[in-house]
Amino acid sequence: MAETYDFLFKFLVIGSAGTGKSCLLHQFIENKFKQDSNHTIGVEFGSRVVNVGGKTVKLQIWDTAGQERFRRETYNSLAAWLTDARTLASPNIVVILCGNKKDLDLEREVTFLEASRFAQENELMFLETSALTGENVEEAFLKCARTILNKIDSGELDPERMGSGIQYGDASLRQLRQPRSAQAVAPQPCGC
Ligand code: GDP
Ligand code: MG
Repeated sequence: MAETYDFLFKFLVIGSAGTGKSCLLHQFIENKFKQDSNHTIGVEFGSRVVNVGGKTVKLQIWDTAGQERFRRETYNSLAAWLTDARTLASPNIVVILCGNKKDLDLEREVTFLEASRFAQENELMFLETSALTGENVEEAFLKCARTILNKIDSGELDPERMGSGIQYGDASLRQLRQPRSAQAVAPQPCGC
């Protein structure tokens, strides 16, 4: 049977190499930690249909690759990643900052407060995640999807705008083509 969903949202996982982007994607899609972490070559791709606020949403997730591999520097590169995303994708994209590897608390180099402040100043949502234990991984994707849905409801985001990264799914399209009110409201006579 063909998949039906109300919306399709495109997600892009970006950030410095080694931060756990591929593992986050794998944890969200497969519900397990990817042990043999090969380097991502180019772009990898996964999708999962979730239920958010009574809507069925297909999340199409693109995992990207980078070459550099540092530690604290991955945090310092955030501003550049954000600028790229907002200029190359759209200034209206919904962004969540994931502070991954939450399980490695002894090796922490960035405090929760510091990252929270950065998120607040840059209008991002923020969660600390662990692709290893699965903590907050699902929540991060769902939080993002929920925010996008709210912005569609308020008219801030338009699924019909090309390149917005969001689309109506087949289930919504059927409803749009046959609005429930159409049966009740008689067509207005044409004035010409
Ligand atoms: P990417 O380059 O951003 O895609 O990073 P990967 O997903 O390939 O992960 C890089 C390394 O970090 C791998 O050795 C993973 O096993 C490890 N890793 C990823 N996420 C976590 C995590 O949440 N906790 C821990 N302890 N290690 C992680
Ligand atoms: Mg990768």
